[in-house]
Amino acid sequence: MSEVQSFDVAIVGGGLVGATLAEALRPTGLRLALVEARPLPAAADGDDYDERSLALGWGSRQILAGLGLWDALAAHATPMTEVHVSERGRFGVTRLRARDERLPALGYVLTLRHLGAALAARLADHPRLTVFRPAEARAVTQEADAVRLRLAGNGAPEAIRARLLVAADGSDSPLRGQLGIAARQVDYGQWGVIGNLTPRHPPAGRAFERFTPDGPLALLPLAGDRCAFVWTLPPDRAEAALALDEPDFLAALQARFGRRLGAFCRVGRRQGFPLRLVRPARLVAGRGLLIGNAAHTLHPIAGQGFNLALRDVAELAQRLAGAADPGAPELLAAWARRRQADIDATQRATDGLLRLFTNPWPPLSHARAAGLLLLDRLPPLKHRLAWLGMGWRAGQGGPLFQGRPLPAEAT
Ligand SMILES: Cc1cc2nc3c(=O)[nH]c(=O)nc-3n(C[C@H](O)[C@H](O)[C@H](O)COP(=O)(O)OP(=O)(O)OC[C@H]3O[C@@H](n4cnc5c(N)ncnc54)[C@H](O)[C@@H]3O)c2cc1C
Repeated sequence: MSEVQSFDVAIVGGGLVGATLAEALRPTGLRLALVEARPLPAAADGDDYDERSLALGWGSRQILAGLGLWDALAAHATPMTEVHVSERGRFGVTRLRARDERLPALGYVLTLRHLGAALAARLADHPRLTVFRPAEARAVTQEADAVRLRLAGNGAPEAIRARLLVAADGSDSPLRGQLGIAARQVDYGQWGVIGNLTPRHPPAGRAFERFTPDGPLALLPLAGDRCAFVWTLPPDRAEAALALDEPDFLAALQARFGRRLGAFCRVGRRQGFPLRLVRPARLVAGRGLLIGNAAHTLHPIAGQGFNLALRDVAELAQRLAGAADPGAPELLAAWARRRQADIDATQRATDGLLRLFTNPWPPLSHARAAGLLLLDRLPPLKHRLAWLGMGWRAGQGGPLFQGRPLPAEAT
């Protein structure tokens, strides 16, 4: 029987989060395996009006800088210099501004294409990384000092072993079940309808969060005077909106958003999907742990999912640097404590915001309008809200969170 290949860390899931972790672990000198079920997509070149994007807070920009990725991304990142929060049909408005935080931007909007390309370029030149792709991780067995992973895929070995297994395999995370971790799933009863549009007046660095009785609507500034939108709606309304032709869809969205950016002139391809919360009972089981969507799937209202995942990655990379055993129980427990506190706080803030703004009870809706006006006049509170959105949390420390690289381990 052939010998099973051994690694220090096996990462299952080569989406944005798994790929970022593989890159973040480069300076640690650990031997890595990355297992991804889908084949490598063909590199997309040229601009695509419909390309998807992510909003990242300033804190995420710092982590990407610490990972050495920001230089390749900066030219393609659209800065958000102001976030404008309002409620449809009410006067209250609050504006979070980068200049009040003495920063060039509160965050950036990055296209998935550029983020994916920057990661792929780096991983192609990673001396201690073995990629199994397309290969599916099928079963996990915990052993005393390692995890054995059964694989299925053309050319992939039947099994590999690793001292630490990281499941970055998305919201449905097959490995979460394999690790024996139960997850609570809550259907938000809403769909996210996403796409890109062009308004008459360019967004000029402004992002908008507009609360409506149906659910929130977010507009993010994109290159080419476009905006990316995330419109949350009850499922039947979302299906009806997706069936509209371009002029009717633009009119419906305009009615939700108002005319702060003038008339909406063009909209690209629209996509809709159900929104749910996924909350695992714990983050660690034996020598396995969960990160990214496998560890926390949130409502996209505040665009926090990937931001939170970057903090999972940074905290893990910092703890694994110099560790004698990457799967040591005390190391994983300390990582999980720190991450769970951040995940809980982010989820509470996201869900709280959602409940507050979708409650039609009139006294509450008057209080919200007054609250937004008041918030706009209270710099310390606004500062706190801006910090939360930018991804800063108490107790967060270490070089990556400050935009500095991890020292390279002597190998
Ligand atoms: C509408 C919307 C808007 C959003 N906007 C923002 C935003 O503005 N800012 C932000 O920070 N976040 C945002 N998010 C969240 C963000 O998209 C996610 O946090 C992020 O994509 C999670 O990536 P992931 O790598 O964890 O999971 P995935 O992208 O799902 O990747 C999982 C990977 O695992 C692979 N896989 C699964 N099972 C196996 C297996 N058994 N073996 C091998 N491979 C396997 C899959 O093929 C896949 O490639 C948004 C989300 C939504 C829905």
